Amino acid sequence: MSMLLSRQRRYLHAMGIEAWELRSPSPPAHPTSVAPPAPFPAQPLIPDAPPDWGALEAAVASCTACALHTGRTQTVFGVGHRQPRWLFVGEAPGAEEDRQGEPFVGHAGQLLNAMLFAIGLKREEIYIANVLKCRPPNNRDPQGDEVTRCEPFLLRQVELLAPKIIVAMGRFAAHSLLKTDLPLSKLRGQRLSYHGIPLIVTYHPAYLLRNPIDKRKAWEDLTSARAVMTSA
Ligand code: URA
Repeated sequence: MSMLLSRQRRYLHAMGIEAWELRSPSPPAHPTSVAPPAPFPAQPLIPDAPPDWGALEAAVASCTACALHTGRTQTVFGVGHRQPRWLFVGEAPGAEEDRQGEPFVGHAGQLLNAMLFAIGLKREEIYIANVLKCRPPNNRDPQGDEVTRCEPFLLRQVELLAPKIIVAMGRFAAHSLLKTDLPLSKLRGQRLSYHGIPLIVTYHPAYLLRNPIDKRKAWEDLTSARAVMTSA
């Protein structure tokens, strides 16, 4: 077995999955209950959207649109390749992310790295962002007005990134992106769409740390996302 494969197996083992099996993808089900947002128009969706990465980063860094700015150490913009095939979206920065200014660098981030490695992806080749760019106090759930005010930043990131697939990690990211409140169990296993970009929903890595029994299901989600990518 090559070193790469044995490392992959170790990661899979850490995820609670004993063997690397390339499953044949089940035919993508088409969502009946989540209306896909409209494809990206030629013109930006946000009239005064920051025109480029620099302007967008500056707008995020100086944002005071909701109360979360008062408690942040720094904003957490997003990280990774700016012409990625894959975009992974989480909820909001935690304590470590707030400290380091980078998404998914705490324990959940370590599991995310393992999950990426298990499907043959490196952190540097994908982009990782959160719905919220500031840490909610005591890691509480994001509130509606915080999402409303922060959402244009993620939308503009998606426009600039133009990924081939989006993986929404957890209920909160899925609900924010898809504008639905369907339970995760109804959203997983479907090929959904965000402004015309295929979107797959999976568990949040922090949830998987608390519920390792579901790592196998997350593995199935990621392999089906990979199947969407290879058929694209
Ligand atoms: N959880 C998230 O949703 N995002 C992070 O960046 C870290 C933990």
